Amino acid sequence: MMGLQKYAAEAERIEQHTAQWAPIVAQQRAANQNAVVTIPVVFHVVYRTATENISAEQIQSQLDVLNDDFRRLNSDVDDIWPQAADTEIEFCLASFDPQGNPTDGILRVPTTVSEFGTNDAVKSASSGGSDAWPYNEYLNFWVCNIGGGILGYAQFPGGSASTDGVVCGYQYTGTTGTATAPFDLGRTATHEVGHWLNLRHIWGDGGCGASDFVDDTPDSDGPNYGCALGNVACNTTDMVQNYMDYSDDACMNLFTQGQTDRMLALFQPGGFRAGLLESNGCAPPCEVSCGCTDDTACNFDSNALNDDGTCDFSCYGCTDAAACNYDPSATLDDGSCASGELQDFTFNLTPDNYGSETTWTLVDDGGSTVMSGGPYVNSNTTPISVSANLGAGCYTLTVNDSYGDGICCQYGSGDYSFTVCGEVVASGATFTNTDVSTFCVEPTNVAGCTDSIACNYNPSATTDDGSCLTED
Ligand SMILES: [Zn+2]
Repeated sequence: MMGLQKYAAEAERIEQHTAQWAPIVAQQRAANQNAVVTIPVVFHVVYRTATENISAEQIQSQLDVLNDDFRRLNSDVDDIWPQAADTEIEFCLASFDPQGNPTDGILRVPTTVSEFGTNDAVKSASSGGSDAWPYNEYLNFWVCNIGGGILGYAQFPGGSASTDGVVCGYQYTGTTGTATAPFDLGRTATHEVGHWLNLRHIWGDGGCGASDFVDDTPDSDGPNYGCALGNVACNTTDMVQNYMDYSDDACMNLFTQGQTDRMLALFQPGGFRAGLLESNGCAPPCEVSCGCTDDTACNFDSNALNDDGTCDFSCYGCTDAAACNYDPSATLDDGSCASGELQDFTFNLTPDNYGSETTWTLVDDGGSTVMSGGPYVNSNTTPISVSANLGAGCYTLTVNDSYGDGICCQYGSGDYSFTVCGEVVASGATFTNTDVSTFCVEPTNVAGCTDSIACNYNPSATTDDGSCLTED
């Protein structure tokens, strides 16, 4: 009884809120100031037999019907009732579960229950069903064998969170597969979702005078079945085409303006379903829990559930400052360090008559200038040789002539060469302002495993460092 009293109080609050907001919604819609509402849907397919485990295609066909019917894009619209309306409510299959994990929006839950009835057992794992997802983030849509000739049922706004949603029989869901005539056009769900969005049956569940709380639906004294077009009750023609009557699927085709305003009031400030507007349930990848999920990456994010392609491995390199390929920007060693003996680097220059125009630099692959010389004196063509001991790596040699006429051959026969361990790696004479050469020097003595049968054998190693790993 406590639960029922609480529900009655909440239903009363929702009715007051609706009375306040439905007229405002009507004004906003007339002025095109409203936004389309999109509701994430999770399907709980609770099945005992393979037949009851309906296909993803059948579920998609149901979602398509909901979108067509609520947006008045259904192919069977007619102009009989001018108050027919586009509710501007849409539905999407959930793309993220409540924990932020990607999902296809379809839960498949085996059960031993042969018929569920309408007691909400299908909404709880403990009774052979599937637990609801948060009602303020998703529309829970259970598909099962209800039995007893029941097409479906729904919970009105204001009830328990654990049972919030709609239930449709597997024979009355979607338009393909197990969908069964005359309820094979997906409109059982359109009707039930109408209830879930606070719509009452069009006859107000009573005789003439009983209200469905909507002004633009004609008064009637009871449900219509089949397709009772033109049926008159309470001195007016029944709107048997309304989704909230009991007509066959093929006979229904509309919600009214008044029903639309009543549904949309739920999404206004303080409305019972306004929380759905903030749901991430259908967020496109990657807007939820996104980041680098590769735990070997430099920017691995332990909180990320969805990889967004930002994984960065640039922190890997040789972190040994004594190695010749030491990478100062590396923070994680990748095992590539190569140590080697320093080698003799020599720059040989024969200046032309204008040595004051000549300068040169040698820059390593870290951008540091490691050798340089000039300007020299004029009218002295005595060869110059500058040496340094440097490690392996890649280098850029730049020789400059400030006058722009090189060092050969109008004002003397100058030239230059650069050797590493006596081997020429760059040379030149005739150029204009600059002559640039790039060369790489291999380490002469690489520490590593030199045992070719070891699993970490390094064919370029020249000095065994005791790291060899062998298996028996
Ligand atoms: Zn109903």
